[in-house]
Amino acid sequence: MRVEVDPKICEGHGQCNAVAPEVYDLDDDGYSVVLVPAPGPELEGAAREGALSCPVQAISVTD
Ligand code: SF4
Repeated sequence: MRVEVDPKICEGHGQCNAVAPEVYDLDDDGYSVVLVPAPGPELEGAAREGALSCPVQAISVTD
């Protein structure tokens, strides 16, 4: 699995970090930083939940 945040779309809402802080951090301006770009099975659920939580669909998750 690969996780990417498109910085052109991310608006810094922070939901990804609230839902899955083990996968998504926030930078000093509140924009998402992917901590684990290639999550293993133990983090796949959190990665998907974080992506679904984003109100502007800035996060792409590919298998
Ligand atoms: S929820 Fe979406 S818009 Fe908000 S910080 Fe995360 S990626 Fe960016």
